[in-house]
Amino acid sequence: MQSENFVYYVFFIGGNFHLPLRMTTSSERKREIVMKQKNKNQIFAVFFMAAIMLAIAAMLVVIFSLQRSAQEADRGEHLSNLITENCQSLNALEWQAIARGQIEPVTMEIIEEQRTVIDESLASLIQLYPDETKLSTMQLDFEKYKEATDEEFELIDAGRMPEAMVIDEETVDPLFDQLTDMATETSNALHEKADSSSRTSYYLISLTGVLTVIVTGLLLLLYTHTQRRNRQIRMEKAVLTLSEERFRSVAQSANEAIITINEQGRVTYWNSSATNMFGYEEDEALGQAVLFIMPERYREGYLAAMKRLATTGEKKIIGKTVEFAGLRKDGSEFPIELSVSRWQAQQGTFFTAIIHDISDRKQVEKQIASQSKALEQGTLQLSALFEVGLTISGTIELQRLLDHALSSIVRSEVLKLQHKGGILLENENRLTLASHIGHSEAFLALHQNIGMGECLCGLALETGEILVSDDSDCDDRHTIRYPGMKPHGHVIVPLKAMDKVVGVLYLYTIPGTRVDDEKKKLFATIGGQLGVAIENARLFEKTKELSLHDPLTGLANRNFMNIELRKTFAMARRAKRPLSLIMLDLDHFKQFNDTYGHPAGDKLLVDIAAIIVSIMRETDLVVRYGGEEFLIILPETDSSSAVRIAERIRTTIMQTGFLYAGNVQPSHITVSQGVATYDQTMKVDEEDRIIVMADEALYHAKTSGRNRVEVYGRNKKRAAR
Ligand code: GH3
Ligand code: MG
Ligand code: MG
Repeated sequence: MQSENFVYYVFFIGGNFHLPLRMTTSSERKREIVMKQKNKNQIFAVFFMAAIMLAIAAMLVVIFSLQRSAQEADRGEHLSNLITENCQSLNALEWQAIARGQIEPVTMEIIEEQRTVIDESLASLIQLYPDETKLSTMQLDFEKYKEATDEEFELIDAGRMPEAMVIDEETVDPLFDQLTDMATETSNALHEKADSSSRTSYYLISLTGVLTVIVTGLLLLLYTHTQRRNRQIRMEKAVLTLSEERFRSVAQSANEAIITINEQGRVTYWNSSATNMFGYEEDEALGQAVLFIMPERYREGYLAAMKRLATTGEKKIIGKTVEFAGLRKDGSEFPIELSVSRWQAQQGTFFTAIIHDISDRKQVEKQIASQSKALEQGTLQLSALFEVGLTISGTIELQRLLDHALSSIVRSEVLKLQHKGGILLENENRLTLASHIGHSEAFLALHQNIGMGECLCGLALETGEILVSDDSDCDDRHTIRYPGMKPHGHVIVPLKAMDKVVGVLYLYTIPGTRVDDEKKKLFATIGGQLGVAIENARLFEKTKELSLHDPLTGLANRNFMNIELRKTFAMARRAKRPLSLIMLDLDHFKQFNDTYGHPAGDKLLVDIAAIIVSIMRETDLVVRYGGEEFLIILPETDSSSAVRIAERIRTTIMQTGFLYAGNVQPSHITVSQGVATYDQTMKVDEEDRIIVMADEALYHAKTSGRNRVEVYGRNKKRAAR
């Protein structure tokens, strides 16, 4: 027995999935929270680093600007000093020597330095005072000295400096003064700038400090908050981990297979029941497109559904339980019940399904269905039997019974027969056609009487077995054929009562109709039912015969007479027609008995009865009224006609000689008769009264000498005479 499992897996599209997936989401939720936290930590770290960098940068800017200020102040002072110390006292020669680097006893290093200082000073001054043309002139002069040739310097040494190179002291001195002033000014300006720079730096430092304090405070606050949040997250994470572990353990131990797929249709979760159900291990299944557990015929539908979901959002099976088939690793298919849900996580949309292996249920359903079919079949057969049984029990009269039963069987939808067939009754080992439906004259002419073993019906009579003939045209047993016979099949059912075949039911089927054992049993049951019913009807007829007839003479007895007389009297009264009765009694019958014996008396009674019947019309009724008394009912007969008939009877009997065993001479007997007639002139309204009247007339015949006919009323008169 296969275990019934639910598998969660996702490959169809649809509505909401609620309960089973809440736990699955915990791992996603956990990852989500951790990711968020990581992001926050990163942002915090970036902010923190940025604040520190900002503070460092601010401090560096301050330090640099302080350094620059100090440098500039130093440079201004240095320049001022240099100009003051070195340039103010220089005469032309010294200028030249400086320019040439040949001044004594100053070392070259000093000369170089001085020259550099002058160069730089001049350049700086020109930069500061670009409009001061004298400074440019000085620079040019100085350049000329530097570029002076040896001859020119010799001339300078000899005091004969070329004119172009002579620097007028009067011109130079005030210039140097001016230069010195400018240097001093510059120095002061630079000092001032340095001071201002220092102030700016001070403010900047203060601002940076304040900002750093604020930022650090904020960061501390943020840090504290983050720590608290972290603790919360850790707790949440612990809860989620617990929840997820619990889910995993539940999902893994679940009898139902649980499978999850992502939007791309790839498996992201696969529990152990899914492994048991489909035969794939978890690591084989994870990452695979879910098509691998679907039978080929479902794949197209699944892909179309996924596409519809993506484009139109249509979700047909989500949230419902539907039946599909699963495909195992070994290629075998099995029926499943599937519930799918869709859920959302940070990573996208997922589908989870619970799959239940319903092989056992399907098996049971199949069994139930086949049992139901068998039951239904049984019920139909029972209903056919019931119907036939009902028809059969509806009448005890044989002919009606046969006609109704045949019609009911032929009409039955369960038996699926042609509307054609008949019933033959057994009579001294032959079959006589007793009831039929749908036959031609040609057929009827050939089938009135069939011998034992003749054709299929005769065989059924002989063997007592049901015979089935798929196609009677090709059946050698079907010996009676006639012109215009159409192709047909037969079911021939012997009708049995107490194992005796009392008749044969022949039915027509469409050629090639299969009659299985169940059907044969049904036909056998019908055959049994009908056989017993026929036997009962026959018994009934016999009983009826016995109860209404005299066993010795076969004439109607007084029971029968009562029924008939009541009917006939009523008709005569209603139609205002005459009705006569003859009461007949054998004369001296006691003597006959005594002479010839009682058995001879019996035979005489039988012979007398036969004579009377032979004289009567068919419409008349002859009744054995008592031991040797007979009553004859003559409808539509007036008194004179009745008397005529009575006379005929009297003379016939009188003239008949009766010869019985042991007798040498035929014996003779006479009869006395009384006639009574009902007509409109008579005030008679009870049938019994006419009998009394006839009896009275008979009495008069007896008393009048026997062997005569007396009429009621006339007898009276005669008797009176
Ligand atoms: P009567 O002319 O007055 O009618 O004289 P009877 O002898 O015919 O009349 P009675 O009533 O005296 O006798 C009737 C006899 O009929 C008596 C009885 O033995 C005889 N009987 C009645 N039924 C049967 C029967 O079924 N078979 C035979 N053999 N005799 C019968
Ligand atoms: Mg008598
Ligand atoms: Mg009598």
